[in-house]
Amino acid sequence: MKVSKEIEQLIPYKPGKSIAATKKEYGLSQVYKLASNESPVGTSPKVLAAINEALGNLHRYPDPNSTELKQLISSQSNVTPEQVVVGNGSNELIDLLIRTFCQTEDKILTSASAFIAYKICAKAAGVKVIETLLTEDLKYDISALISELQVSHFKIVFVANPNNPTGTYVPESEILKLLEATKDLDDTLVVLDEAYNDFVRVDDFPNSTELIKRYKQLVILKTLSKVFAVAGLRLGYIIADEKVCDYVNRIRNPFNVNSLAQAAGLAALQDTEFLDKAREVNWSGLDYFYTELKKIGVTYWPSQANFVLIDTKMDSGVVFEALLKKGIITRPVNAYGLPTHLRISVGKESENIIAMQELKKVLNELNNNN
Ligand SMILES: *Cc1c(COP(=O)(O)O)cnc(C)c1O
Repeated sequence: MKVSKEIEQLIPYKPGKSIAATKKEYGLSQVYKLASNESPVGTSPKVLAAINEALGNLHRYPDPNSTELKQLISSQSNVTPEQVVVGNGSNELIDLLIRTFCQTEDKILTSASAFIAYKICAKAAGVKVIETLLTEDLKYDISALISELQVSHFKIVFVANPNNPTGTYVPESEILKLLEATKDLDDTLVVLDEAYNDFVRVDDFPNSTELIKRYKQLVILKTLSKVFAVAGLRLGYIIADEKVCDYVNRIRNPFNVNSLAQAAGLAALQDTEFLDKAREVNWSGLDYFYTELKKIGVTYWPSQANFVLIDTKMDSGVVFEALLKKGIITRPVNAYGLPTHLRISVGKESENIIAMQELKKVLNELNNNN
């Protein structure tokens, strides 16, 4: 069997290590997973109730148009339902956007050390990926992206805002520069992947659903995997120009979003009480991390997401392994070109405390051995 050169060379996405696998491998009874930016709050009771109710209809196909969910999203975001496409996680939508708008040999533009799904989906489709570097303070370098756009044609520009795995963000003023630079290009989409925007605490973050009225090339990508805590069901959506959505819908599998996910999404997006709680838990977790990391003397980047990136100043794989042995799963990010960095998701309060205690011990031990 032969595959394309790109697929032959593709390195598959490496997910965070599972709790079950870690328990087994290290003979541990207690394992804390702070590796995949999952919600420490668990699933909202309202979502669970909605899923329970939807169980009675499992023998039916789901609504192929996610009608009610699109209605809700469009009213919340002040767009038309035709400006919304719902997907099996935002990962599916990244794949669909690339397959809809790019042909083999076309190019997409993004940053190195940004969310890795753009690269994997593009390469799988034979689409070229050009990456600019992050700035010195690990932010998307918007000027570098604009320079690339001036010399070459790109079908899609992907900006993760806030970015994973750095937790850094691009302010509205910079996003506006990028949108201005692309608005007359006609054949270039700008995708703002806002997987973490509900965790943002700064006031110069772009109001992207407002910007969509002014910039037809803008595509906003959202997920229900993070603050809305239904990662296991796979649910995401895009908000874009009606024409963009129409094209994506032409290649989308009709039943891509299952009925339980649709029911859960409807409940989750209306559960403001849960949303508030999830944000509070996240923010106090982050603040705790910052305080402890400062005490230990570890370099970190202030995060607008639900994780923090630290620099261990050594091969972070070693720190990762040492923490694993103590039952704490974190995420080394060498695949993102950050070989000494580790990403730690905000967990429950008790988990955060244990993670910082063990991190301190592990770093002490490793530094003293050298
Ligand atoms: C987690 C994450 C997503 C969400 O992916 P899903 O497929 O919706 O679970 C998208 N983009 C970024 C940057 C992420 O970190």
